Amino acid sequence: MRIPLSNVNLSDIEKRYARDALETGWISGTGDYVKLFETLLRQKVDRQCARVVSNGTVALEIALRALGIGPGDEVIVPALTFVSPAAAVRTVGAKPVFVDVSPDTWTIDPEWIPLSRQTKALIGVDLLGHLCNWHDLDNTLIGQDVFMIEDAAEAHGAVGQGRVAGSHAFISTFSFHANKTVTTGEGGAILTDDPDLAFEIRRLANHGMNDKRPYWHEVVGTNARMTNLTAAIGVGQMIRWDALVAARNQVATWYDERLADLFANTDLYRRPVADWCTEACWMYAIGSPQRQPIIDALRANGIDARAIWTALCNLPLYRESCRGEYPVAKKLSDEVFLLPTWAGLPENAVDEICTIIRETMRQKA
Ligand SMILES: *Cc1c(COP(=O)(O)O)cnc(C)c1O
Repeated sequence: MRIPLSNVNLSDIEKRYARDALETGWISGTGDYVKLFETLLRQKVDRQCARVVSNGTVALEIALRALGIGPGDEVIVPALTFVSPAAAVRTVGAKPVFVDVSPDTWTIDPEWIPLSRQTKALIGVDLLGHLCNWHDLDNTLIGQDVFMIEDAAEAHGAVGQGRVAGSHAFISTFSFHANKTVTTGEGGAILTDDPDLAFEIRRLANHGMNDKRPYWHEVVGTNARMTNLTAAIGVGQMIRWDALVAARNQVATWYDERLADLFANTDLYRRPVADWCTEACWMYAIGSPQRQPIIDALRANGIDARAIWTALCNLPLYRESCRGEYPVAKKLSDEVFLLPTWAGLPENAVDEICTIIRETMRQKA
């Protein structure tokens, strides 16, 4: 593909830190860059504790385990998301239960949460750079004894309801996968303000071992540590966080300007943004009941446009997680597609992409 969907943006800063980690020989899960990355991250999203781990999926698994969630428990998960939250719930032996997304935010609809006596937690996904309505979710779940987990993997830099992505729930997680806005190649993080929980998270991620007492294993843990080499890249990305977020939002603005008339006059639509949220566009997403010819035309021209994920409620693997219908998740899954979005995507690439969309729509009209 000539214009990829996603691309990493690494500067000399990341390269310098990575080289330093290599030269010092500190390349395992212990080292100063790990500690520094955790400090910078915690400060950036205004949390008391941060633990970086090997990826965003493992971050969710450890968050669930730290909350004691396992067999017999149910966890509410949106029907439209990348699969990780649902898979993490299954991995710890619990059952994901799907909730539909709201047409206004494409995130969990706080009106229709399928709670049961087994519900122990809810994982809200800040989808495609837009926050969940955490305020309404809090109100819906008040007095319910349901833990809130925020999966902010797609929302580095999004702001709303007085807080940034990664600070809205009891536990919040990030991914730093190569396609994410802030990246370390592979990586993740778990954040909380609760020191006991932070202790448990650290222990679970480090062989269930007491930090103060070597080879004294208190719980069955795993090794989910991020390497110091990876964290060195992360420290560089932390310094550039605002610029990386702004660069993607600039790309979104370019798309918005060029597609505005199509949004106004055709059935093409843009991902909605609620008035209480400032989006941090991770992937620019648009939808149309006739998306396939547009995707085909873009791909024929070497542009990596892609249909959004299959709604999880449509996957046979997760049939037991359905409670009723999921009309919004299914419609979006059938209609939405993602356009190339990355820091450094040239403006004339956006021109070309939008011209192809326009031409294809005119031919089909
Ligand atoms: C990318 C992503 C993750 C985790 O990804 P990893 O590749 O495991 O780091 C989790 N949740 C969502 C919503 C994601 O988009």
